[in-house]
Amino acid sequence: MRADGPPASPPAALRLNIDRDALAANWRTLDRLSGKARAGAAVKADAYGIGARIAVPLLWQAGCRDFFVTYVGEAADILDLVPSASIALLHGPLSDADAGWARATGVRPVINSHEQARRWLEAGGGLCDVMVDTGINRLGLPMAALGDALVQRLEIDVLMSHLASADEDVALNAIQRAGWDEARSALTHRRASLANSAGIVLGAAYHGDLTRPGLSLYGGIARAELAAEIQPVARPMAAIMQVRTLSAGDGVGYNSTFVAPAPMRVGVIALGYADGYLRCWSGGKGAMLFEGRRLPVLGRVSMDMTVIDLAEAPELGEGDWVEADYALVEGAAASGLSQYELLTLLGHRFAR
Ligand SMILES: *Cc1c(COP(=O)(O)O)cnc(C)c1O
Repeated sequence: MRADGPPASPPAALRLNIDRDALAANWRTLDRLSGKARAGAAVKADAYGIGARIAVPLLWQAGCRDFFVTYVGEAADILDLVPSASIALLHGPLSDADAGWARATGVRPVINSHEQARRWLEAGGGLCDVMVDTGINRLGLPMAALGDALVQRLEIDVLMSHLASADEDVALNAIQRAGWDEARSALTHRRASLANSAGIVLGAAYHGDLTRPGLSLYGGIARAELAAEIQPVARPMAAIMQVRTLSAGDGVGYNSTFVAPAPMRVGVIALGYADGYLRCWSGGKGAMLFEGRRLPVLGRVSMDMTVIDLAEAPELGEGDWVEADYALVEGAAASGLSQYELLTLLGHRFAR
C-alpha cells in the first residue's frame, strides 16, 4: 500500500468535447432573442448531460444570473459556483427536509401546489418562485388556486408557467399565455417567466422578464427558426481499443447481426449503451466520423464497446480517436429519440 494513495487516474478512452465558446455564444444569442427579458438557464439533469459544474460557471461568465435545477441534490452540486439566490428548485419542496434545506441555503423553491405553499410557509417562508399550470397538466398550481389565502401569502420572485407545445404553432400557446397573463394580475410577484428555448421564438408577448432556455443552450434546435443561430456544443469522442481483420463470413458482436461479406478491417471503440450510445445505433444506423469520413457501426452496440468499419479510414489504428456522428436534429430523426434524450443520455464515463 502507498502512503500517499493511488496515483491520479490516466485519461479515459472516451471523452465529451465541449465547445465552451459555443455554449456561451448560445446563451448570449438566446438572451438577445429574449428581447427586453433576460435569459436564465435550465441546468437540470447535469446541464442536459453536458456537466453542470462545467456549464454553470461558463453561463455565469456570459452574464446568466438565473439557474433552474430539478432537485435539491442538483442545487447542492452547484452551490459553491454561484450565489444561492440565483438558483431555483423546479420540483419545489417535496418534503419538510427540502423546505428546511432551501431556507438554510437561500435556494428558491418553486411552489407547485397548495401543499408545497403550506410546507414552505410552515418552514418559515421567504422569497420563492411559483409555477402556475396553464395547460400542460403536469406539475404546477392550478389556476383555480390563485386566490388561495395561503398562496396569496407567498413572497414571489419569479411567477412562471411552462408551455406544452412551444415547438409547434398551435392554439394552446396563446391560451397558455393568456392564463399566465391572468396569473400575473392575480399574484404579486417581482418577475414573470414563461418561455423555454422554443417559447423564446414565439415573440415578445411570451418573454415577460425572464426566459428559461435549456435545450438550445446545449446545441439543440428547439424550433427551425433557431437553426441558423445555435451552435453545437457537445461532441462525443471514443478511442479505438483494438483493430481486427475479419474474414468473409465472420460475425460481429452479440448475435452476429453483421456478417462480413468479404475480408475487412474493423475497429473496436470504447463507447457503448452504458454511456448513452444506445442500441438504436446498431446495424449501420449510427457511425463514427474521422476527418469527414463515415465509419458505420457494425452489428450490435454493446454495453462498453462498439465495432466500426474502418474501410474509409485505413490509416486509423489502436489509440486513435474518432468522433460519434451525433448531430442532434439528424440524430433524432435517425434514432427516434428526441434531442433532449440524445443529450441527457450522455453518461458519466466520458471525460468532460
Ligand atoms: C426543462 C425546463 C425548461 C427548459 O426547457 P427547454 O425546452 O429545454 O428549453 C424551462 N422551464 C422549465 C420549467 C423546465 O422544466
